[in-house]
Amino acid sequence: MKITDLKVAIIGDAPVVRITTDEGIDGVGAGETAKPYLKPMIEFYREMIIGNDPTNVERVMLGIRRMGSFKPWGTAVSAIEMALWDIAGKAAGLPVYKLLGGKIRDKVQVYNGSVRFKRSGSEPEHFAEDMQKMKDHPYNFSIIKQAVSFHGGMQNRDDFYYGTPVSAQRYPNRGVITPRGFKYLMACIEACLDVLGDDVGLALDCGPGMTVPDALKLAKELEGSNIMWLEDMVTGDYTPYVLADLYTQITPYTSTPIHTGEQIYLRQNFVELIERNAVNVLGPDVADVGGIAEMKFIAEYADLHGILFAPHGVFDGLIGLAAQTHLAAVLPDNFIAFELPQAKPEWWLDIMDGERFPVKDSHIEVPDTPGLGVSFIPEEAKKYLREEDANFFDD
Ligand SMILES: [Mg+2]
Repeated sequence: MKITDLKVAIIGDAPVVRITTDEGIDGVGAGETAKPYLKPMIEFYREMIIGNDPTNVERVMLGIRRMGSFKPWGTAVSAIEMALWDIAGKAAGLPVYKLLGGKIRDKVQVYNGSVRFKRSGSEPEHFAEDMQKMKDHPYNFSIIKQAVSFHGGMQNRDDFYYGTPVSAQRYPNRGVITPRGFKYLMACIEACLDVLGDDVGLALDCGPGMTVPDALKLAKELEGSNIMWLEDMVTGDYTPYVLADLYTQITPYTSTPIHTGEQIYLRQNFVELIERNAVNVLGPDVADVGGIAEMKFIAEYADLHGILFAPHGVFDGLIGLAAQTHLAAVLPDNFIAFELPQAKPEWWLDIMDGERFPVKDSHIEVPDTPGLGVSFIPEEAKKYLREEDANFFDD
């Protein structure tokens, strides 16, 4: 089998990949939503993969993997890798998880980072109200993630930290939290913990932007509580580096689990974090890290070092949800849960056929459909194509 084309369309705001072959089998992959600007970067790989056998996934990836980078750029390579697995699965008549070694669990756990309500204010009681709504959601989540500190906009509150917040898009605010700011942060977290009790674990997305002393102070204050992890306190999100040294000043000194990794691209960039036990939990995103198999390798290596795994995925959409589900089915026992992506806008469910990945009691059953288990209904999907992408479903 040979790859005949790599097509990219922006559907909704997500860059979507379709790889075609000379045997009439095609495969789909997608990047995180809200990254339409990645289209030319994905197209950049077209000439590098055409003519290759897509079922030799690793060989194709060796040809392009070096030409990628940290978030957001790793998405281009990751989406192509997903589409290759989709083709390989369809060609073999097997679900992707079978090609990755076979599932070790029939249903996979998800956590809530995407089901959100509008909070009526920013005082601790408003956090509690909001947390109650998320706890009561029919998906019956076992873990809920809450944004706080520099990730939750708290920097914009008067006197939260010793610094002047910059509100320009994606500008990373960073600095020392004031005593008053720290008290407020703790009050909001305690309000959430009170609501969740022993029923649901609380994960906190905290930064980046916290200093090492503040990060350690927060982690120590929360020892003994039902905190699943503290995410990205010092680096993370779109930080284009790792700085494992900062984490080695925090993680060994607290029993509260420390988490990072959503922006990191490729296994090589996890070596320091893993070998130095710089964090307790890693959370790469399958749509950023370099793909499904890349993520499995990192999880296996992390497991050998006692590091847990809770993949990021909030913006991965329906195709990413498929990839996450197959991957989670084969991850070792260090897997906790992945962040549930959703089909957003909901018309995604009208333009794709196949699996829906319904959530019940915070779990998704692993489907047996060949490939990723979702495919486009071209007549329906065409309604959402941009003019310049009109040939996306041709041939
Ligand atoms: Mg995060």
